[in-house]
Amino acid sequence: MKKNINKIIIIVISILFVSYTFIMPSAASKAKTIKELRNELQSLKNTKKNNENKKNKTQSEINSSNQSITNARNEITENQNKIEQSKKDIEDLNIEITNTKESIKNTISAYQITEGQNVYLEYIFEAASYEDLVYRYAIVEQILDYNNEQIDKFNNLIKENEQLQIDLAEREIELNNQIDSLSSKIDELGNQLEEITEHTMDIQDEIDSTKELIDYYVKLGCGETQNLNECVSIKGDTSFSKPLTKGTITSYFGYRINPLTGTGTKFHSGVDIGGNKEGTNVYASANGMVGKIIRKASCGGNQVYVYHTINGVKYTSSYWHLLSINVSIGDKVDVNTVVGTVGGGSKTRSWDSCSTGAHLHYMIAKGWYGETYTTYSKFLSNTLDPKEILKLPNKGTYWYSR
Ligand SMILES: [Zn+2]
Repeated sequence: MKKNINKIIIIVISILFVSYTFIMPSAASKAKTIKELRNELQSLKNTKKNNENKKNKTQSEINSSNQSITNARNEITENQNKIEQSKKDIEDLNIEITNTKESIKNTISAYQITEGQNVYLEYIFEAASYEDLVYRYAIVEQILDYNNEQIDKFNNLIKENEQLQIDLAEREIELNNQIDSLSSKIDELGNQLEEITEHTMDIQDEIDSTKELIDYYVKLGCGETQNLNECVSIKGDTSFSKPLTKGTITSYFGYRINPLTGTGTKFHSGVDIGGNKEGTNVYASANGMVGKIIRKASCGGNQVYVYHTINGVKYTSSYWHLLSINVSIGDKVDVNTVVGTVGGGSKTRSWDSCSTGAHLHYMIAKGWYGETYTTYSKFLSNTLDPKEILKLPNKGTYWYSR
């Protein structure tokens, strides 16, 4: 009976599990309603807070490493002073030894009675009585013993000083190694800090544009739990057009040498289109709706993201380093709509550190960024090669129509 109950429980659990897996929506990050967008916004805020904590922790690690370096440098200076002092001490001790040797000579001379080699013996043998002899002998012995002890003492001090100098020199090597490794640790932490800072800015951009998108959907009258697809209708299209009337590829999509550092490979998420002055019109590449706008990002500058449906498939096209933004979130656009103007040159460099000259960084990704997914990394993983989609000529060859 008990066995049967167990069997029934296992079967019920299995059915529940299977139906949950197939019937319940997946927990993947897909904001389909305003309510879900609000949840995404909250989690972005939490991530930002975590990053700020990480940033503070990294900064205090850098500070304490800098303090350790200062301490090590101070110790080196102190030790170098000690070495100098020790050298002086040795000099003084050598003088003392010379003086003591002189004093031995003088001691013996003081008792010298006749000239000759064995003045010391003669002094002793000049004793008037046996008591006198013992007395004289003892005096001379004491003086000489004392002086010899002094010389031994001085020699030992010299040896100690020499050892001290060796120890201090070794310590200096050790401290310099410590400084080296602390310096490279600081470099590493600095890089981490930079990455975290950039990421924090990215998240702030995400937070701002998600807020803007929520406001837009609310203004449009979409219900909190209404499917956004039903609420917003976007006119479909059949193909993409080039975003610029004239241009040439200056950098392909995919992995490339980092143009800012000249070393290391970095994923290039779109194509760079050059051959246009700052202020040249940038057009939407198909019918669609402006789904996302980021202003003055530290890397990417002014950015516009447009939602499209091409032959029933959702895409987002994106336009970076813009000098001006000519559209707002929610605007319905077509291929003749100017979304913004070319920037990325000296006029935009002050806030946009990721551009080396006037150009358009153009991206295409599957799905709607902000609706199909809401994180930049998800957007990046859905990017496609625009050269293929827009049928662009190779680097160096210009086109003159869209
Ligand atoms: Zn680019």
